[in-house]
Amino acid sequence: MTNALLDYANRQTGSDLPPFDHIQPGQAEPAVRQILDENRKTIDALAAEPALLNWETLVRPLEELDDRLHRAFSPVSHLNSVTNTAEWRAAYNACLPLISAYSSDMGQHAGLHACYATVSKSDSFQSLDAAQRKVIENALRDFHLSGIDLPAVQQDRYKQIKQRLSELSTKFEENLLDATDAWTLHFDHSEALSGLPDSALAMAKQKAANKDEYKDLPEDQRGWLIGLDFPSYHAVMTYAQDRGLREQMYRAFCTRASDQGPYAGQWDNSDVMAEILALRHEAAQLLGFDNYAQRSLATKMARETDEVVSFLRDLAQRSRPRAQQELDELRAFAKELDGLDDLQAWDTSYYAEKLRQQRYAISNEELRPYFPAPQAIQGLFEVASRLFNVSFEPMEGIATWHDDVTAYAVLAASGETVGYFYLDPYARDAKRGGAWMDDCLGRRLRTDGQQLPIAFLTCNFTPPVGNKPALLTHDELTTLFHEFGHGLHHLLTRIDCADVAGINAVAWDAVELPSQFLENWCWEKVALDEFARHFETGEPMPDDLFQRLHNSKNFHAALMMIRQIEFSLFDFLLHRDYDPDQGAKVYETLNAVRAEVSVLTPPAFNRFPNGFSHIFAGGYGAGYYSYKWAEVLSADAFAAFEEEGVFNADTGARFKDHILSQGGSAEAMDLFVRFRGREPSIEPLLRHSGLLDAA
Ligand code: ZN
Repeated sequence: MTNALLDYANRQTGSDLPPFDHIQPGQAEPAVRQILDENRKTIDALAAEPALLNWETLVRPLEELDDRLHRAFSPVSHLNSVTNTAEWRAAYNACLPLISAYSSDMGQHAGLHACYATVSKSDSFQSLDAAQRKVIENALRDFHLSGIDLPAVQQDRYKQIKQRLSELSTKFEENLLDATDAWTLHFDHSEALSGLPDSALAMAKQKAANKDEYKDLPEDQRGWLIGLDFPSYHAVMTYAQDRGLREQMYRAFCTRASDQGPYAGQWDNSDVMAEILALRHEAAQLLGFDNYAQRSLATKMARETDEVVSFLRDLAQRSRPRAQQELDELRAFAKELDGLDDLQAWDTSYYAEKLRQQRYAISNEELRPYFPAPQAIQGLFEVASRLFNVSFEPMEGIATWHDDVTAYAVLAASGETVGYFYLDPYARDAKRGGAWMDDCLGRRLRTDGQQLPIAFLTCNFTPPVGNKPALLTHDELTTLFHEFGHGLHHLLTRIDCADVAGINAVAWDAVELPSQFLENWCWEKVALDEFARHFETGEPMPDDLFQRLHNSKNFHAALMMIRQIEFSLFDFLLHRDYDPDQGAKVYETLNAVRAEVSVLTPPAFNRFPNGFSHIFAGGYGAGYYSYKWAEVLSADAFAAFEEEGVFNADTGARFKDHILSQGGSAEAMDLFVRFRGREPSIEPLLRHSGLLDAA
C-alpha cells in the first residue's frame, strides 16, 4: 500500500497542496520515521567534509531536507489540531518524540555546527546577500542556544529536557481539551437560558442535536446543550440572566484542568506546569542564562528583561487609574440596575454588555446581520487587495479535511500566483479552540523552480445554523482580519531562503505586527462600506450604527489593557524569578502581579494558569508580553496610514515591501525603521486606546 504522505513529501513537480483525501493517520509515523532516517544519513555525509562547503553545497541541501520533513509533518500536526480524533492524536504523538529528538540532535550536531562555522568564515560568505547571511548567523546563534558548546554530559541532559518539555506541552493541551469537553449542561426548557440571543440558543439546540444522548429523540425533546467551548461560554457569561448559571459555568471554565471545580483533580495540569517551569529554568541555566526569561529574549526584539518589565509597568501605570474608573462605573451600574452589592467575576461580562448597550445602544446581535461570514471574507480580500495590490481566488476541486474548508490562490497584480491558503472558519467538535495561522509549506527556491508558500487559516466562528449564513460578531470579524494579517506575512514574502522567509525567524515580539495592524480596517468606515451589508436586505450599515460601534471601541479599553498586562507580567516574572529551591510559585506570582496591576481580583478558586496554554503549551513562555510590544508597533504602523490615507496605495506598497515581504531576513527594528522612517513610538497605541489624556 502506498503512503500518500510520503509521496507528497517526495513530490518534486505538480501541485504542492497536500492530498488531504488520501492522508491517513497510520501513514504519519512511517513517513516521518523514514524521512528522519534519510535526513540523518545525508547530514552526516555533509558534515564529514566541512572544508568543501559553501551556501550551495551546505545550506541549500539542508533546506531541501527540512522541507521534506515539514511536508510530511505539517499536515499531521494540522489534522491533529482540527480533527482531534483518537487516531490523529495517536499519530501526532507517535511523530512528536521522533521529531523532537531529531531537531535536538541536529541542534547539537557538532559536525553540522562546524560546517556553518566554516561557511561563515569563508571568503564566499561576504558575497552572499543579506538574507543568506542572516540564515547562517541565525543558525550559529541557534546552535549556541541548543547547547552545542556544552560538555557532553550537560548536552545529554539538555536533550532530555527538551524532549520532556515537548511531551509536557502536549500533555498540557490534552488535559485542557479533555477538561473542556467533559463538562456540559443540558436544559429541557430554554427559559433557563433566558437572556441569550437567538443565535446562541440555536447553537445550544444544535449542540444537543449533535450529541448521541439526544440526537435520536424527536426534535422538540432534544432540548438545549451548552459546553465550555468558547462560543457557549462567552454567550452565557455575556447574556445569561440567571446569575447562578453564570457562576456555575464560570467555576467550571476557570477551574479546567486543575485541583478545583467540578472535575477537581482530573486532568490537573498543576504538576505539568511545575515540571515545565523547573525544566525551562534548568535548560536556561545550562546555557549560561540567569533564567528562562533571559533565554527567551535571546531571539527577540526586546534586549533586557528589565526593558520588558519596565515597558509593562509603564503601560500598567498609565492604564490603571482609568481601569479603576471603568470598574467603579460598572459596579455603580450593576447596583443601580439590579441592586447588586457584590459584583463578582461571573457578573462583569454580563453587566459590561448591558452598560455597553445602554451607553452606545449597541449589541453584538445588532451588528451580526451586517457581517455574514461569506461577505466578511470577501470584504477582507477587498481590503487586502486595495492595500497590497493582490487578489484571492477560490480553487475548485481541492481536497480538504472538512466541507467547511475552502482553498484559495493568492495572485499578484501581474496575475502570477504567489501562494495558497486554506480557510477553516467554523467551530466544531474535536477542533482545537481559538484562531490561528499555521504554515503548511514555505516559500523557497527549489532546483526545479520556485516553491510557493501555503497557509492554514483556522478560526472557530459560530457555525451557520439552518438556512442562515454564519453571522459574525465584530470581534469575530476582527479575529478574521488578525489571522489574515499573519497569513499575508507568510504568503506575500519575496524571500527565497526558507529559513528567513515569511514568518520564519521573525522575532516573537514583532510577529504580531502584521496581524494587529490589519485589524484596524475593521474600524474604518470606508472599509466597512465595502462589505458590511445586511444579510437579508442588502442595506449598508447605517451611519448611526457605525458611529455607535466606533464610539464603543474603547469601552473598557483600560480594563482590557490591564488584563493583558496582568497575563504578560505574570508570565514574565514567573519565568524570570523562578528559584529551584522554592519550586514553581505560580499562584504566589499571580497574586503579587494582581496586587500590583489589577483592579478586580478573581475568586480564590480561579485556576486561570492551568488553562493558559499560550505559555505552557504554545511558544509564548516568557513571551506573552509580545502581544503588547507588537501592539505598539502595529498602532504606530497604522498611524502612517492615518497620516497618509487608510487606503493609500503608496503607504500600502511601502508596508508590503519593507515588512510583509521581508520575513525574518533582517532585524525587526531595522525593517520597522525602513517603513516608518524612525523607531516606533508608544503614543499611537495610547491614543488609539483613548488613554493618552489619562496618562
Ligand atoms: Zn496573532
